[in-house]
Amino acid sequence: MSDRPVVTRIAPSPTGAMHIGTARTALFNWLYARHTGGKFLLRIEDTDRERSTPEAVKVIFDGMAWLGLEADAEPVFQFARADRHRAAVEQLLATGRAYRDYMTVDELTIERERAREEGRVVRSPWRDNTSNDPDAPFVVRLKSPLEGETLIEDQVKGSVRFLNKDLDDLILLRTDGSPTYNLAVVVDDHEMGVTHVIRGDDHLNNAARQTLIYQAMDWEVPVWAHLPLIHGPDGAKLSKRHGAQAVSEFDDMGYLPEAMRNYLARLGWGHGDDELFDDTQAASWFDITDVVSAPARLDWAKLNHINNHYIRLAEMPRLAGLVTRVLKSRDVSLHDGAEALLERTLPVVRDGAKTTLDLADGVMFVLQARPVTLPDKILGLLTEETRGRLSRLADHLSGLETWEIASLEAAIRSFAESEGVGIGKFGQALRGVLAGAASAPDLAGALFCLGKPESLARLDDALSPAV
Ligand code: GLU
Repeated sequence: MSDRPVVTRIAPSPTGAMHIGTARTALFNWLYARHTGGKFLLRIEDTDRERSTPEAVKVIFDGMAWLGLEADAEPVFQFARADRHRAAVEQLLATGRAYRDYMTVDELTIERERAREEGRVVRSPWRDNTSNDPDAPFVVRLKSPLEGETLIEDQVKGSVRFLNKDLDDLILLRTDGSPTYNLAVVVDDHEMGVTHVIRGDDHLNNAARQTLIYQAMDWEVPVWAHLPLIHGPDGAKLSKRHGAQAVSEFDDMGYLPEAMRNYLARLGWGHGDDELFDDTQAASWFDITDVVSAPARLDWAKLNHINNHYIRLAEMPRLAGLVTRVLKSRDVSLHDGAEALLERTLPVVRDGAKTTLDLADGVMFVLQARPVTLPDKILGLLTEETRGRLSRLADHLSGLETWEIASLEAAIRSFAESEGVGIGKFGQALRGVLAGAASAPDLAGALFCLGKPESLARLDDALSPAV
């Protein structure tokens, strides 16, 4: 390994969604670059022109921005670099390390069949034929070594050996002159100065192919690290039935990006038993050699636990903004002053919330317009006796000067004592009157969040004689 400054990259192909596995790969590259004081780059592998629409590219940018994984340079677009890829092939042709293969489709079919029968890979007769036919269509193939082995010293998988006799001469340029995937990746990684290729282990075989291209170009081969897949909680390959797969779905489900970073960092890597850590800690601890080679399993309970932690740490205006977004998506109309109301309510309801969707459920009780619709169950509790008691409670509360949780708790307790009953005697009815069918925190919390005028108004609504 050389002592070049570390450069890592994520090289997603725009497909219309950013998979959670891509997010984890991006995170590991980002952490490793931060750990080593290196750079983290982004390359959009947009050579599939049908799929690489501007919208699909935007999904990647949005996903990276949401995750907070900023690249250290402008993104590189692979398709725009086709001339660079072709220039590398010219060099390989000039040095005799690639050749023009004029086999026709029919000839190739016959050779494939023969190779299959003989238990070997396809070999073109043009490999050792230096004559050129300027008018016939051709592909350019790498002149790969026929003997020996290609060794991948993978940082995660360990040593993986490929026998060169099993690797056919890779096509570098197609008949239409377009570069192939493995060629483009090698030229781009080399010219971007990438020192460490950290990616999904579905690319492990490509590492052998790509090594041969590096060697033919006399370029330094990068350090390889192939990450195991992310599996569903049941150990099967992650799929639709496991719930979310795309980064945007986790956003829609109310997970915070810092929670995702913390959680994803632990998928295949860890620092002892530490479950909760911030980016600085992760970057200082992260080493690619500590990634485990077995597939990691998505664990919703852990993710929820971590998300709850970051929800409890989040700054209130930001949390209010996130919850507002959820409420708007549910067509909840927000009156003037709703923001202040949210900022007062969220600290009271957030402790048990797993996601911002839970938070949105938790604040609904304060957002209801008066008069609050009371479910039959609550109406049934409002007997003559309870109405009288709640009315006396309203008087008691209206005399309160400080409207804080502690003083409200004390006031409710002293009221119950003065009535000679337990809080249970009127608690459920009071809660219903304040919140209707919505879920609400405990009584003092609910009164505090609603504020004094609104609390008393809701009590008044419920206790006024029906017209
Ligand atoms: N474009 C490839 C993918 O999205 C990644 C290639 C690489 O990381 O070398 O799977």
